[in-house]
Amino acid sequence: MHFPSCANLNALADSRKKLLKDTAAMLRKKKDNEVDAKVHALHHEAFEKFDCLSCGNCCRTTSPRFLQTDIQRLARHLKMKVSDFIDTYLVMDEDSDYVFPAPPCPFLLEDNKCLVYEHRPQACREYPHTNRKRFRQILSLSIKNASICPVVFGIFDKLGKQINGTGI
Ligand code: SF4
Ligand code: SF4
Repeated sequence: MHFPSCANLNALADSRKKLLKDTAAMLRKKKDNEVDAKVHALHHEAFEKFDCLSCGNCCRTTSPRFLQTDIQRLARHLKMKVSDFIDTYLVMDEDSDYVFPAPPCPFLLEDNKCLVYEHRPQACREYPHTNRKRFRQILSLSIKNASICPVVFGIFDKLGKQINGTGI
C-alpha cells in the first residue's frame, strides 16, 4: 500500500478528487458487509505498516469534537475544573460541539506524541474511522479525510485498484 507524504496530501487529494469520488460511488453500490470486509482488512494492513508518530497530521490540522465525557475525563486528568478546561481550551462550533478554536491540538508534542494519550477524546481514538462498522455511511467524510490522513488516501488508492483497476 502506498502512503503519500502528508506535506502535500491536501493538494494531492484535491487533484485526485474525481478518482476518490468514483471509488466512493462504486463502494456505495456494494453491500455494507462486503465494503466493511475490504476496508477493515486494508485498515489493519495499513496500520501494521504506517506509524502515526511519523505523521500527526490529524492532530496538527483538525480538531476532534469533544463529548461531555471527554471534557470531564480530561479536566480531571489535568486537575482542572470542567468550566476552566472549557474556557482554556475549547470553543463551541456552529453545530454546538466543543472543539479547539484552531489547530494544532494544544496537547500535540514536538515528536507527534499526545500529552494526554490515555485520556484523549473518543474522536481521537476512532480517527480515521476506517475500522468502523458500515463504513459505506461515512464515504463523504472519508473522502475529506483522504486529504488529511495518508492512511485513508492509501486505503482509497488500494480500493480503487481492487474495484476499478485504477489507483487514486
Ligand atoms: S488530544 Fe492527542 S490524539 Fe487528540 S488531537 Fe490532541 S494530540 Fe492528537
Ligand atoms: S490517523 Fe492518519 S493523519 Fe492521524 S497520525 Fe495517523 S496516519 Fe496521520
